[in-house]
Amino acid sequence: MEESPTDQPLRNKNSTPLQERLLIVITGNSILVRSPHSTNKSHQRPWRRESDYGGGGLNLYMLVCFESLEYFSHMQVALYTFGSRPTSTGPRARHRHRPPRCSPVAALASATSSMFDQQYRVMVVSDLDWTMVDHGDKEEHKDLQEFNTLWDSTFRSDSALVFSTGRSLALFQELAKEVPLGKPDLLVCSVGSEVYRFEGPDRCPTIDQEWYQHLDQGWDRNKACTIARGFPDLQFQQDSEQRPHKISFHLHKDREEAWTIVKDLQKRLTEGGIPAKVIYSGGVDIDVLPERAGKGMALAWLLEKMDGLKGRPSAGTVVCGDSGNDVELFTVPGVYGCMVNNAHDELRNYCQQQLDSGNTTIRMCRRRCAGGIVETLGYFNLLPE
Ligand SMILES: [Mg+2]
Repeated sequence: MEESPTDQPLRNKNSTPLQERLLIVITGNSILVRSPHSTNKSHQRPWRRESDYGGGGLNLYMLVCFESLEYFSHMQVALYTFGSRPTSTGPRARHRHRPPRCSPVAALASATSSMFDQQYRVMVVSDLDWTMVDHGDKEEHKDLQEFNTLWDSTFRSDSALVFSTGRSLALFQELAKEVPLGKPDLLVCSVGSEVYRFEGPDRCPTIDQEWYQHLDQGWDRNKACTIARGFPDLQFQQDSEQRPHKISFHLHKDREEAWTIVKDLQKRLTEGGIPAKVIYSGGVDIDVLPERAGKGMALAWLLEKMDGLKGRPSAGTVVCGDSGNDVELFTVPGVYGCMVNNAHDELRNYCQQQLDSGNTTIRMCRRRCAGGIVETLGYFNLLPE
């Protein structure tokens, strides 16, 4: 049984115990329900966990509850919304997702509008760290500002901007406070394991349930964690980066040794019957994802979705990256690739092989980070006439 927010009877402002017939409490990752039959049995923990939805279900469930309010109004339903209930700490915790605070109104609005309502001319799908954002730029992010100016003046009205990052939503929001990022139409987080839409009047990030549930099929996070614990060189990353569909580590080894560990981990996961993939990126990051996840898989899903609606971008889709977890983006059929000048060997080697084999849709840029993206848009003639 889940812990209740409080085992004491809830009281209203006058400290009078609420005479609820049915009480629904939404915490960060659970729906707790107390029925009239249990109100006098607080010592028996009268809260019943109705649903543990781990992450993306918050907005969906809030919709259900708000729709239910009208139905239950004659039952004096009291609806309380609390912040996130503390969860257990450490890598064993299954659900770390803290849905963004979003008003019910925003949730309703996001359910009624969609970035898929139009066909775009161009779609840029860009990694953030060391691709869109040059952390070495001490001149007030000059290249990023140049991209933003170009995007706002030339692309914003008919094109889509997607950020595809290894960061969680929380770390994305931190970055957005630190640097002048443009506003994305879609956010692919946690190495393609979470997709957020920015829709409705206040552009509140809303997790895409379809993608979330797609990744859940066949995924056993606990078992994958158990196997990964057999590798003592893997150090769990901070809690915010451990996601329902991503287990992240740091690995401080030279490249050759690191690749051996990556391959060994992949082998043991496969032998253990876990449909997972291991991604080595930035020379230090190791991510274990469901086989269906990843930046490339998320983009392929997005394009397929567009195919079934208004069609994929008419002039083209440009993927932009600098490191190993971006390689998948470049493998999606029909896209232009932008490898920024400061790319790691993990991506550089892949791009060089592609160019050597006659692929003409990849640009190995002369410029760093966002400057390379500007360069690529011009190189492939994607600027409007
Ligand atoms: Mg990067």
